[in-house]
Amino acid sequence: LFVVFEGGEGAGKSTQVGLLAEALRGEGRAVLVTREPGATDVGVRIRELVLDPTATGGPAGATLGPRAEALLYAADRAHHVASLVRPALTRGEVVISDRYVDSSLAYQGAGRTLPVDEVAWLSDWATGGLVPDLVVLLDVEPVVGLARAGSRGGSADRLESEALPFHERVRTGFLRRAGADPARYLVVDATGAPDDIAERILDRVRRLLPP
Ligand code: C5P
Repeated sequence: LFVVFEGGEGAGKSTQVGLLAEALRGEGRAVLVTREPGATDVGVRIRELVLDPTATGGPAGATLGPRAEALLYAADRAHHVASLVRPALTRGEVVISDRYVDSSLAYQGAGRTLPVDEVAWLSDWATGGLVPDLVVLLDVEPVVGLARAGSRGGSADRLESEALPFHERVRTGFLRRAGADPARYLVVDATGAPDDIAERILDRVRRLLPP
């Protein structure tokens, strides 16, 4: 079973990924927790590149453009799927990934305004067509999420330092995807109590698991 968590900055994905993994392991299931970008050695290096604060959009040629950025995310994803996700799924494990294709559609597509269908094609090619069984979208208004992310104390990477309209487009991008395929998405208000959110997610995941 392949479960993906998606959402904007400060949505609480890592907390919920951890809670779901803990609950499933407590039931004796084998779980692989992973993430994008940066789950593999190569991915760590790609993550450093795409999140480098000095790579913010300046004059053409001086910085990483949206197409180059999209290709780097796709390269991270291709290697991630081939080397970690598919082998774990073949072993029968539950794979929980913090971000996947929808992040590219939302950030590189809706956010950076690359054509979303082209980003979708690129992701499909990178993954060989691997689609999650469930996508949990932790939805939060960007003003709230960014404040939460900021209060974590980490230095803002280049995405967190984007202007609010960028994050509004990203949020709309996520919600549009979820609205188009309700059977495969669970949209949760990320401002709720973490334990309540975890309960709802576990409930939905249980219905997809083999007994
Ligand atoms: O979720 P996490 O904090 O690891 O994401 C790191 C950064 O990468 C975030 O700022 C996120 O917005 C960005 N990102 C992106 N496009 C993706 C995946 C992540 O812009 N496809």
